[in-house]
Amino acid sequence: MACAYGLNNLEKFKIEESSNLFPETDFNVYERPELEIRSVVREFDKDELELELVEIGKRKVLYKRNSLNATEIAKQFMEQNYPNIEYIFTNILDYEEESDIASIHMSQAINGVEISNTAINVNIDKLSGSIISTGVSIWEDIQQSNSAVGNQSMDLVEAINIIRDNLELSTEEIDSNSLTIEKTFNNYLKVKGVPFTHDKSLMARKIYTAVSPTKAEEIWEITAEIDIDFYVISVSINSKTVVQINNITRHATYRVVPLNKPNIGNSRREQYTDPYIPGSSPFGWHDDGVNQYSDTRGNNIHVIENSDGDDSIKENVYISGGPDMNFVFNYEGDAETIEGNQSAAAANVFYLTNLLHDIFFELGFTEAYGNFQYENFSGKGKGGDPVYVIISDRKGENNAQMSTPVDGKPPKLRLFPFTIIDGPERDPSFDNEIIIHEYTHGVSQRLTGGQDTVECLKNDEAAGLNEGWSDFFANALQFRKNRNRYTPLELFRYVLDEEHGRKYPISSDTSINPLMYSDLSYNENEKFGTYKACEVWSVMLHEIFWNVVEVYKNVPEFYVKDNQRLSFAPSNFIVMKIVVDGMKLQPCNPTFISARDSIITAVKNFNGSNIRLLCLFWDGFAKRGLGVNAKGKEIKDNKVIYTNDHSVPEECKDYL
Ligand SMILES: [Zn+2]
Repeated sequence: MACAYGLNNLEKFKIEESSNLFPETDFNVYERPELEIRSVVREFDKDELELELVEIGKRKVLYKRNSLNATEIAKQFMEQNYPNIEYIFTNILDYEEESDIASIHMSQAINGVEISNTAINVNIDKLSGSIISTGVSIWEDIQQSNSAVGNQSMDLVEAINIIRDNLELSTEEIDSNSLTIEKTFNNYLKVKGVPFTHDKSLMARKIYTAVSPTKAEEIWEITAEIDIDFYVISVSINSKTVVQINNITRHATYRVVPLNKPNIGNSRREQYTDPYIPGSSPFGWHDDGVNQYSDTRGNNIHVIENSDGDDSIKENVYISGGPDMNFVFNYEGDAETIEGNQSAAAANVFYLTNLLHDIFFELGFTEAYGNFQYENFSGKGKGGDPVYVIISDRKGENNAQMSTPVDGKPPKLRLFPFTIIDGPERDPSFDNEIIIHEYTHGVSQRLTGGQDTVECLKNDEAAGLNEGWSDFFANALQFRKNRNRYTPLELFRYVLDEEHGRKYPISSDTSINPLMYSDLSYNENEKFGTYKACEVWSVMLHEIFWNVVEVYKNVPEFYVKDNQRLSFAPSNFIVMKIVVDGMKLQPCNPTFISARDSIITAVKNFNGSNIRLLCLFWDGFAKRGLGVNAKGKEIKDNKVIYTNDHSVPEECKDYL
């Protein structure tokens, strides 16, 4: 039985993202001091506003912290935009020290009882009090089903007995005296003494569920382990029957190099069970809604090997995890050929590319935008195009590549053996940076100019940008403890040496990475430097990434918690989301200037009223020469010239 997360209901939702409906609270209280102090200082003045000194690079900014608390701001947001919607708070993430973003999570409710599968979240910049982004999935016109109003009730013991009877688990009536019931989190009740469950207990809560866009019915939702599987069972209070049973068990375990570590050469592998993101992969990674697999196949990714170099996909083999889907394989450091570690390689690639599917889905590369899935559950975009990842691919060597046809046709990500570094062959399947780089090519290709063309990242600058986005995501997704904007990052060092890698490490320190927009310039009789442009673009995005992360004081712990629970509110995700939004907005074959402008438009769409966020983006571009007055391609004295400008818009001068 497949797992289900109320997916059939999702389409009916009115979904809004990143709305700017809430008017910004007064932000005109900044000053621009000349200060020598390099640390963050906080103190309270008489107006009860907290003064905060924030360091951006070597410049300093003074803000007044808004005294309104985040929960109040979320309440105002609801009052102003959804005055007739009843809601309850489900999770309030408002950390005083660690982050300047508060995330307030709510659910729609009837009479104080949650309606399942509804969600409202509001992310707030705590310094300015302005809303950075919101997500609203609610039923606008829902009411309690008439037939259920007032005249039916059912206690929990009756619901448990209906399950026992309907599922023929036992013939013996359960007596309420034999059960103990205690309250736990989020209105869940824990029931002990249940004879038919594995551990003699179950979890239960009363909840509303939408039976149509206008009608909600009250149910008992029971979660219990029966035999070896976990089930979520819904019992209708109105009809006194079991109306839904979902088996939520189908575990898969992988031993892999964690997402935010570079490669197997310098990172220990970790073991994860079911690391998929349910909102992006509702049936997990081994199930396309119709077929269930216990090998490296699923709705998003098919990993196959091609050690014989014969390219017909039919001949090539999927790697099995066995009936328990246990993708935990040994790794022999001294294996002479990459085939010696093929199963471990397949596990790593399957984990990482699926996780990238899930992350980019969250960032806005969804079914409607032409993402890579066999089945498109929303009915939007074209299905039939999971990514075929070909490992131990002996059709080539010392490279990796992604070929991305139009939406509906599957891309191929090829990982060839590398022999550049002395010693045994090296497999790029263990180099997360390479895999992220290649997968990102698929994303930028599908999003630029729409998913039905493949002609939009071909011209000189566009080809450079294309490589630059791929390096940027390989860099940004490695956000982790002990890294800051100056920590030099040398990409792909598991398989490439200094001579074959990128020319400069990625770093904000211009003595380590001096690249500027003007470095795109070249002699007319030469070719445009695609990889130089790549490095210029990726370091520009790097500056922006850290501008935002530093100001919002993002900490890696919020980003990847034990690598399974990704959080999408923090500043690092905001930057990545805006970069993805920019891809959607830019013209076919963008230039540096039009790609920059699209990102700026994306920031404004994301939250037009947050000038601080906008200026942090401008500052990153300006530092590397792509300021407001930068000049693109001009031909002078047989040279193609790109001209730097380091200025930011007038409105940003007080912020930076
Ligand atoms: Zn590339």
